Amino acid sequence: MIEVAAALDTVLGRAAVLPTESVLLPQAHGRVLAESVSSDIDSPPYTKALMDGYAVRAADSGPNASLTVIAEVTAGRVPTQVVGPGDATRIMTGAPLPEGADAVIPHEETDSVGISVRLRRAVAAGEFVLPRGREMRAGDAAVEAGTRLTPQAIGLLAAVGRTSVRVHRAPRVAVLATGDELVEAVERPGPGQIRNSNGPMLWALASRASATVEYLGIAPDVRETLRRLVARGLESAEVFVLAGGVSAGKLDLVPEVLGELGVTPHFHKVRLKPGKPLLFGTRQQTLVFGLPGNPVSSFVGFELFVRPALRKMMGDPIPGPRFVPVALAGPFASRNDRPTYAPARLELAAGLRVRPGDWFGSADLRGLLNADALVSLPAGTVELPAGEPLPTLFLGP
Ligand code: AMP
Ligand code: MG
Repeated sequence: MIEVAAALDTVLGRAAVLPTESVLLPQAHGRVLAESVSSDIDSPPYTKALMDGYAVRAADSGPNASLTVIAEVTAGRVPTQVVGPGDATRIMTGAPLPEGADAVIPHEETDSVGISVRLRRAVAAGEFVLPRGREMRAGDAAVEAGTRLTPQAIGLLAAVGRTSVRVHRAPRVAVLATGDELVEAVERPGPGQIRNSNGPMLWALASRASATVEYLGIAPDVRETLRRLVARGLESAEVFVLAGGVSAGKLDLVPEVLGELGVTPHFHKVRLKPGKPLLFGTRQQTLVFGLPGNPVSSFVGFELFVRPALRKMMGDPIPGPRFVPVALAGPFASRNDRPTYAPARLELAAGLRVRPGDWFGSADLRGLLNADALVSLPAGTVELPAGEPLPTLFLGP
C-alpha cells in the first residue's frame, strides 16, 4: 500500500504536458496559457477621470473656489479645450482628462451656479485621475505562460488586443461506471439495484477541470462486456476514469481486465480513507484510474489524483491538490486507521475556520453536497483543539 504523497508523485510523473493549440478567446476559459502575452498599448491608453465631476487645476481649488465651466467631455470623446487658470471642464468617468487639468472633483462635492461651478473643498493634484500607463505599459507582460485562464484573464487578454491565444490542449477523458447493480438515472432501481451516480459525477468533475469527456455508460461485472468497454476507453482516451470493481470482491474484475488489455499497474491501494482500493496504471501515454465505487471515494480519488493529472497535462505548473492550513472551528476528535480526507464546511466567524462533518460515510453524497472543503486528518487517534490548523482543500463551485 502506497502513501498519498508517493501515489501523487507517481501519477504526476506519468502525466505528460499536452501539445499546444490556438483557440479563440471565449473558448480559452479554464485552459492554461502556453505563451506569454504582452500588452500592445498603455493601460489606460490616456490619462482618465475616475469620477463624474469636474476636471480642474488643483492649484485653483479650495472651499468656495468658483471656476468657469468651459466645456464638457464624456467617455469616448476627446477634450479640445485646455483648462486654464480659473477654468473647469465637466467630465464623466472614463473620459480623457483635458490638458491643463490635474485633478477631478466629484460632482457631489460641487454646486453649479449658472455657467460656473463652486467647489466645496480643495483637491490634490492627481485626485480621481488614473495616469496613462499606470496599470501597464505597452510591451509589459500582461498574462504569463502557465496562467490558468480565469474569466478575469480572458478580460485582460481582450484588453491587450488578443482574439485568440495559444493554450495547451484539453485532455480527452473517458468515464466508465462498472457494477451489475447499477442502472442509469432514468430508471427506477429494482431489487438490489442502485442508480449510477458516479458516471454523471465524474463526467461533471472532468468537465469542471476543462477536459473533453466521453461517457461510456455502465459496464456490468461480466468479463467480456467489461473488456469491450474498457478497450473502447483505452482507444479513445488520454485519461481513462473507471469507477467500481477495483476492491477485493469476487466480481471486482477491473484490475484483471486492465491487465489483459495491456495496462501496466503502478499502484493499487493507497493509504487513505475513503477510497483505499484506488488503482493507477498506464498504457503508453494513457493514464488509467480505477476509482472505488462508493461515490465519496470516487470523488476524493478524483480530487486528489485525477484533477492534478489533468492540470499537469494542460500545462499548469502547479497542478495541486493545493491544501492550505485552516483553523478548526471547534475541538475535534477522530480515530482513523488511515490518513483521512473528510468533507468539511468552511465558516467565516472570527476569520476563516473549517468544521469537519460528522455525517462522514463513503456512500453519503448528500453529506458531501454540504461540504465546501476536504480536510486532511492524520491516521490514529486525534484529539484536536479548536484553532488547530488543518490542511484543507477547497472544493470548487
Ligand atoms: P465497488 O467499488 O464496485 O466494490 O463498489 C463499492 C460500493 O459503491 C458498492 O456499494 C456499489 O454499489 C457502489 N457503487 C459502485 N459504483 C457506483 C456508482 N456508479 N454509483 C453509485 N454507487 C456505486
Ligand atoms: Mg462493484
